Amino acid sequence: MSGVDISEAQDVALEILAQAIRRAGTTPCADDDRWISDSPAVQALAARRCQGCPVFDQCDAYAQQFPRESGVYAGLTEADRLPVTQEPRKPPKRRRTVLTPEERLQHRREASRRSRARHRAAQAATQEGIPA
Ligand code: SF4
Repeated sequence: MSGVDISEAQDVALEILAQAIRRAGTTPCADDDRWISDSPAVQALAARRCQGCPVFDQCDAYAQQFPRESGVYAGLTEADRLPVTQEPRKPPKRRRTVLTPEERLQHRREASRRSRARHRAAQAATQEGIPA
């Protein structure tokens, strides 16, 4: 079983969000690791600063499409998003259906890669000084 499925649709959606960030010039999460912190408390603090973000609606659309993404999106932490959007899960029938630690780590790395791409786009937009 593969623990990682980085769909083309998700890459396209991420690029659309990245383009919106570049057009906006900057976002509150630019160059700020609190949005991708592993700490729920730190994520909660970061999430409050999403209000007023110029790409809030695009970010919200992305997060609704991919609620399992790690980090803060559109004012919602990972914990905020999942209870609302998560479909009820059936308990695994066999242990083989559970991700191995290596698969979990690989999945986490891919999620972090996408989060970093989003932040790099925000950073680049800030450095280019693109007006909002
Ligand atoms: S997570 Fe989304 S809404 Fe929040 S600051 Fe970053 S781009 Fe804006």
